[in-house]
Amino acid sequence: MMLPEKKRMRSFFSIFFVVFILLLNGCSTTKNRPAGSTRPMVILKLDDLWFEDGLVHPGWIQVVDFLNSMKVKGTIGIVGNSLEEGDSTYFNWIKQRHEEGYEIWHHGFCHCRHQEEEVEIREYRGENLAAQTESLLNTQQLAQEKLGITLRSFGAPYNSTDQHTASALAEIPDLKVWMYKETDCSTDKFLLPRIAEVNIEYPVHQPDFEQFKQGYEQFKNEPVLVIQGHPRSWVEDESRFEAFKRIILFLVEEKVTFVTPYGYYLRE
Ligand SMILES: [Zn+2]
Repeated sequence: MMLPEKKRMRSFFSIFFVVFILLLNGCSTTKNRPAGSTRPMVILKLDDLWFEDGLVHPGWIQVVDFLNSMKVKGTIGIVGNSLEEGDSTYFNWIKQRHEEGYEIWHHGFCHCRHQEEEVEIREYRGENLAAQTESLLNTQQLAQEKLGITLRSFGAPYNSTDQHTASALAEIPDLKVWMYKETDCSTDKFLLPRIAEVNIEYPVHQPDFEQFKQGYEQFKNEPVLVIQGHPRSWVEDESRFEAFKRIILFLVEEKVTFVTPYGYYLRE
């Protein structure tokens, strides 16, 4: 028969061992995810908020109303020069979204491109360093001045950047996160990469539930999925908005956690 002392020691060691294994597992499997969840986190990277005809575009209103009704948090990529033109109704609409938990993020200043001798120059690809720095700072300062919001995340118009963009961004420490960086230039920003197979739109501007689902099944073990869409394009055709709704309903049923880019960065 085992001595009581020995028995106690043995059960102490077994408990210690179980706790140790649980801790080990906790470290390796739950990083970046809420405890106990095996689902990815999802960032709705919604692009192109402008001040148009004195209004917030109906596509945005429709999408935000729907997301709010589902208690889903989205994000809004603002184009900076709209803050030069916008009125108080426009600013208040954005501030309200910010208060609801949407992240308002930096989507360039003019979202423009032009041709120079056969070469297309885009805002942030092909422009010199001074121009890129000025454009990035303009949006950053306007957001602070007109909305009282410090922008924390950046995603370039057309997702087009070059080495100057990385250098210009390095001068803006308030911006912490860079979505869909497509070059290999070094940066100190936290990167949220694009997975081309899993998206809202196939091709761009056209939400497609079946293709989304296929991509999702393939990549659902990733810690985070950043899926891009353009709400302004979804009012043109009822079926586009319906497909977007199906995607959200599916993700809600999947019990994914919707996060913002900066919120995800802060979890790291
Ligand atoms: Zn855009």
